[in-house]
Amino acid sequence: MRVLILGGTHEGFQLAELLAAQGGVDFISSLAGRTREPRRPKGQVRTGGFGGADGLADYLRTERITHLVNATHPFAAQISANAVAAAEAAGVPLLRLLRPAWTARQDDRWVEARHATEAAELCRREGGRIFLTLGSGELDAFTEIHNAHFLVRMIDAPERLPLHDYRVIAARGPFSLQNELRLLAEHHIGLIVAKNSGGEATYAKIEAARRMALAVIMIERPAIALDPRSPAVARVEDVVAWITQQGR
Ligand code: NAP
Repeated sequence: MRVLILGGTHEGFQLAELLAAQGGVDFISSLAGRTREPRRPKGQVRTGGFGGADGLADYLRTERITHLVNATHPFAAQISANAVAAAEAAGVPLLRLLRPAWTARQDDRWVEARHATEAAELCRREGGRIFLTLGSGELDAFTEIHNAHFLVRMIDAPERLPLHDYRVIAARGPFSLQNELRLLAEHHIGLIVAKNSGGEATYAKIEAARRMALAVIMIERPAIALDPRSPAVARVEDVVAWITQQGR
């Protein structure tokens, strides 16, 4: 058995930890190479793109991968689509490790947006001081907004962002509720834009918004996150059980 874990998430990291601790399974973690100092999981690690679905299929064959686990972020749509196509082409079973999405509580003030462009349109209508918790690749839709000040939080803060009026802060989760309440108050935030990432590490901002009665523009997950061609489990233990079952 030889497992390829498409990672770059806390879950991918946890899975590598668990497989390393249990022993007996050969595995490789794959990182995209986006962050300057990624948390390096235990075991063998490779970094950088494969060159599309065909490149990934070639890699599966060359490295004699027997199990593919897509543990990437729910919003990593391209690599997830590539994983489906490559697994099919190379005849390798694929499992999606996917954290459940957050669901709104009665006292949450969420406005659902289908994608970043729709979220940007809502921001343009609203204006004011807006906390953007998106990646640099998702900011293009916000470039022409002139009636808002954006507070942007990223793991690696680039020197310049394609926004009109903004402040960028570099920080890596997990974030505490206290931290988020302080940040929102300090920057006089009136609106939050978030992706429905799920998980605990970045949930505190949603809780803080609830406490402060702030609206959250919640960007829904891309459709590939629910693709039936890659059955999904939510827990790393379920991935280990799947690998073991398949190996029999
Ligand atoms: P994406 O748009 O779905 O993928 C773009 C390209 O990056 C892919 O086509 C692939 O290049 C390469 N790539 C992505 N993940 C890879 C991996 N684990 N190993 C090797 N190559 C990978 O991906 P993204 O949304 O930019 O995310 C990139 C990485 O950051 C992923 O590992 C993801 O788990 C992590 N991450 C993403 C988010 C988010 O909000 N999107 C948040 C936290 C962490 P090739 O086509 O050349 O193979």
